[in-house]
Amino acid sequence: MSLRNVIEVLEAAYPPARAESWDAVGLVCGDPAQEVRRVLFAVDPVAAVAEEALEWRADLIVTHHPLYLRGTTSVAATTPKGRLIHTLIKNDISLYTAHTNADVANPGVSDALARAVGLVGDLVPLQPFPDDPWRGLGRIGELPSAMTLGDFAAQVSKGLPRTSWGIRVAGDPDRPVTRVAVSGGAGDSLLGTAKAAEVDVFLTADLRHHPASEFVESGGPALIDAAHWATEWPWLDSAASILHSSGVTVETRVSATVTDAWTKGY
Ligand SMILES: [Zn+2]
Repeated sequence: MSLRNVIEVLEAAYPPARAESWDAVGLVCGDPAQEVRRVLFAVDPVAAVAEEALEWRADLIVTHHPLYLRGTTSVAATTPKGRLIHTLIKNDISLYTAHTNADVANPGVSDALARAVGLVGDLVPLQPFPDDPWRGLGRIGELPSAMTLGDFAAQVSKGLPRTSWGIRVAGDPDRPVTRVAVSGGAGDSLLGTAKAAEVDVFLTADLRHHPASEFVESGGPALIDAAHWATEWPWLDSAASILHSSGVTVETRVSATVTDAWTKGY
């Protein structure tokens, strides 16, 4: 299978035109004519993931986060990013990114997060595209039956891979929750949208003290803040299964290497 074929399948599921204007998605390094047998899926393009790709003899790494978001004038091996590019090219490993275009896809990053934490039935975007009600940022879904915020937080903890960040809750742990909004990755910008959607709880990552505190004080939904990496990790399996269901004959592997920025709690 050529890299070109694999990219065609990925771009049908995650159209690059749907990425944010500030984003940098698509092929970072690699030759579209290259033969691809093994594809490693990971959240972050970092050294530990490149090492895993080397050991497993991957031909392609598909990551959620871009390696370079802004222009650069050098890929010299004197910086971590330049060194990563050297490692990949020297070992014939391509790198491809599906970032905000995977966030807004259907199924996308937040669908996988919603299922991982136990939401059932139809999921609808928290912030749909004006021209497409089935695509957009975040998802709203329901729990099979009402549970307390504390029990739901425990369920989220079980459903997501373990990190030192853990799961943090803002709100009364005895509060009943049924209607849930989720958004993989940093969700600060969606706080107002979650409140307007009248959900019982909003699960996301990277929430800051002041916006979270003011949100809860103002009577908004309860908040659950998980590790950024953990909220996006469930998507990797979904992206890998898209390759398989499209008939692409490659071997896939989802990296279990925890690459969240926070590595230890005390
Ligand atoms: Zn992210």
